[in-house]
Amino acid sequence: MNKKNYFMRSLNLSHFRNIVVLTGAGVSAASGIRPFRGRGGQWDEIDPLESSDHSLLETNPKAIWQLYGALRRQVKTAPLNAAHIRLAEVEAQLSPDQKFTLITQNIDGLHQRASSSNVLEIHGSIHRTRCSNPTCSLAPHLDNDPHDNTLPICQICGSCLRPDIVLFGEQLPLKESWAAKLALRDCDLFIAIGTSGTVSPASSFVRSADYAGARTILINLEPMEPKNPYFKEEYLGYAEELVPLMLNFSSG
Ligand SMILES: [Zn+2]
Repeated sequence: MNKKNYFMRSLNLSHFRNIVVLTGAGVSAASGIRPFRGRGGQWDEIDPLESSDHSLLETNPKAIWQLYGALRRQVKTAPLNAAHIRLAEVEAQLSPDQKFTLITQNIDGLHQRASSSNVLEIHGSIHRTRCSNPTCSLAPHLDNDPHDNTLPICQICGSCLRPDIVLFGEQLPLKESWAAKLALRDCDLFIAIGTSGTVSPASSFVRSADYAGARTILINLEPMEPKNPYFKEEYLGYAEELVPLMLNFSSG
């Protein structure tokens, strides 16, 4: 289990009716988007408690924009990779009686750029801005200005604006969490890609999927440590290599 498994089987997706895929930072790594957690991540250089904790909205919101403004600039030119492209192709090739839900922890919007359509962004989107005042009527809106020079201020209530993402210490968005739960309740195939199988949300999602009787698969660069028994299959490697090899509509 500690060495790469090169003998992966191709999955014939036509055998499944309700497919749920969870993607994490490992899916965007080949696009040059560095993970915010884990080895080689942005947090190696920046303390998350200093740069991305929700309490910064009150004490130093500019620090949040410095980090996520830089990410907005980076995402703008980031190329899609083979994992994004294959996941979008799979969704487009489904038969009418098949359902495909793509839950992503990534905030970069690259799945949508690759033309995936049923995407649940459980950590929000770097491409949207909203008001930091929860009672304000300003709706979240598309915005790709990095705002790393001047702190943006809400025109309605005067509070500072913030990226529409889940910061450390914040809850997952209710609508997306609920939709993810519904999809998992009925799924017969669950694949987590480029995310740790031992921490939330993958660890809780796979439990729901297993409870629903789904086949459960983890595709990740790092082996699970400790092993999560709800993942019945584990394939080690780069998402951009394994996803195109494994996700097919015929046996091979
Ligand atoms: Zn406001």
